[in-house]
Amino acid sequence: MRPNELTPLFASVQALTGIGPRLIVLLKKCLDLPQGVTEPRVLDLLWHLPNGVIDRRAEPMVAGAVPGSIATLKVRVLKHKAPPRGNRRAPYKVYTEDESGRLELVFFRAEHKFIERQLPIGEERYVSGRVERYADTLQMSHPDYIVPPEARDDLPLLEPVYPLTAGLSGKVLQKATLQALDQIHPLTEWQDETWLKAREWPGFAEALHRLHRPVEASDVSPGSAPWQRLAYDELLAGQLALGLVRQSIKAQSGRIVKGAGHIRARIADALPFSLTNSQREAVREIEADMAAPQRMLRLLQGDVGSGKTVVALMAMAVAVEAGTQAAFMAPTEVLARQHMETITLLAEKAGLRLALLTGREKGRPRKDILDRLAAGEIDILIGTHALFQADVVFHDLAFAVIDEQHRFGVHQRLSLQSKGKGAATDVLVMTATPIPRTLLMTHYGDLDVSKLTEKPPGRKSIITTKSSLDRIEGVIDGIRRMLQKGAQVYWVCPLIESSELTQLAAAEERHAHLYQIFGKEAVGLLHGGMSAQTKDAAMDAFAEGRLKILVATTVIEVGVDVPNATIMVIEHAERFGLAQLHQLRGRVGRGERQSYCMLLYKPPLGETAQARLDMMRETEDGFLIAEKDLDLRGGGEVLGARQSGTPGFRVAEVPNFEALLSAARDDAKLILANDLQLATPRGEALRALLYIFECDEAVRLFRAA
Ligand code: ADP
Ligand code: MG
Repeated sequence: MRPNELTPLFASVQALTGIGPRLIVLLKKCLDLPQGVTEPRVLDLLWHLPNGVIDRRAEPMVAGAVPGSIATLKVRVLKHKAPPRGNRRAPYKVYTEDESGRLELVFFRAEHKFIERQLPIGEERYVSGRVERYADTLQMSHPDYIVPPEARDDLPLLEPVYPLTAGLSGKVLQKATLQALDQIHPLTEWQDETWLKAREWPGFAEALHRLHRPVEASDVSPGSAPWQRLAYDELLAGQLALGLVRQSIKAQSGRIVKGAGHIRARIADALPFSLTNSQREAVREIEADMAAPQRMLRLLQGDVGSGKTVVALMAMAVAVEAGTQAAFMAPTEVLARQHMETITLLAEKAGLRLALLTGREKGRPRKDILDRLAAGEIDILIGTHALFQADVVFHDLAFAVIDEQHRFGVHQRLSLQSKGKGAATDVLVMTATPIPRTLLMTHYGDLDVSKLTEKPPGRKSIITTKSSLDRIEGVIDGIRRMLQKGAQVYWVCPLIESSELTQLAAAEERHAHLYQIFGKEAVGLLHGGMSAQTKDAAMDAFAEGRLKILVATTVIEVGVDVPNATIMVIEHAERFGLAQLHQLRGRVGRGERQSYCMLLYKPPLGETAQARLDMMRETEDGFLIAEKDLDLRGGGEVLGARQSGTPGFRVAEVPNFEALLSAARDDAKLILANDLQLATPRGEALRALLYIFECDEAVRLFRAA
């Protein structure tokens, strides 16, 4: 059970005072909620860390206040001067002074009553805000704080600044966060005391306090002791969770799945090409895993277009040859359908019985599929996460492929695994983004990896160019010429920080712009907010060549295949990560014709952005790009939530991520070697850590034990 001390952290923010439905809507937008969490909780407020500090500690005399800087001043109110009637533009002024000089407080469009109440004539007040010189007078317009002397201690002398959303003010958020801090109850320290001492790291609760109520301006920085402590907590939790999950998988015995090869032979005959050496090797490795009595958990890494699907199909054929069933799960509906089509072409010739199950199959047809599945009349079930639903029961599932593209977590992987007999399903995870070794460790732990290092023969390289958005007309002219030659174009619109809505607006705007130029029939739009049907209709129209240009948000990143599309335009390319640019570029270059990738950027380009775009022009090697991405951006962000859809890190995106990670990995190994059940006093404390970072899949394991 979750320790009682943690209960208040998991309560809805509604439990705090002054938080109503309107504020909840805003918090939902502003806070980074983990997948599946629909209402912000106290914990989510605590993880919403400031990205800066306003330092109000300077308390000079008025004469000594430095214009342009933030100061807190103690002044006496002399006189009020309302603007002349009818002149809404003139400010309301309040004259104040201390022994050293005079300060004018200036309010535009102010509510007079409010100012009169806040600043009664003859009384002393602390005012805090930016001081400015206007001609010969010192002014402060709209002080951030006005408090009477007895309330001076309420002034946040170091005021944390938070990422906000329209309609949510820093003050309101801060008030909520301060209440959230009060919900942290004393917890037993889970980190090693000597380790903490050596680094001068504070305890968990103190660390959160120091970030939300900084004592030093430097507290609010990913390199500060409190931040580092929390980052380490998060990494350790992750490593422990992976370790526990891995142990539990290893502890369960698997089953031996061996095929005679007859179905694979038929598939090979039906293929219009022969497998590359890389593909053959991967199939061999998977086959060996399946034939071994242990549980298989393997990652198939292969660059976009490297031909993972065929490998997966061959592996599924092994399971079918052995008289069992296989499942293939894709991250999106569009992709599931596309896999279904490709696989159907090959598999039917080999006599395989397939079915598709997504959120869209409902009622009678769905029941039909489930019945046939349970009766063993379906060999391979292809679908989306709809495969996880409780009523999806296999006759005998032995092998599952998860085409991950980062969209699923360990959690789903386990729940699919548990659908097999005696929970012994072998699992192959496929990923298109080549993930550097260190990051693999964080997200998957020590699993086995197969790599597709060569591309299928005959692939032309993609010509990548970059140009400024200022020259977009020239780009459009170029596209016009290529369209005349029959090319098709993807046009991807910018990813704007955590706001699908703004991204959508940008895409809609570009869509409107382009169809004015190229005609309404030629230009389509695809984005995540569309219904599955509309999305499919747009994709179909594009795939069939009826649409010439498809304007899209990043939804097309995940694996669609239109060989005739030879131009990829990426608008605001400077905002994308390298790995993501690479993924997007991989959507073209699939056919016979020369393909192009045009990176449009908004000048001026920063140094890192410049390096990123140049890297894209220099190479198409996904592994190289992934390593470089890591260099340029530092750890966590490469697999961060924004681009992946998996829950990213909450605090661990720090500059020395790699060093902390490798320490956490060693630490976790040692802990589990000595205390696999987390039953010692430190183990108990570590369980709380796992709860705090919501490592649910690991928590479930020791709860079941
Ligand atoms: P990935 O999923 O790794 O991005 P796919 O499996 O979608 O790549 O394969 C990309 C394309 O390459 C498909 O059209 C597929 O039919 C083709 N392909 C796969 N393997 C080979 C091969 N050995 N030779 C030629 N073409 C291949
Ligand atoms: Mg694919």
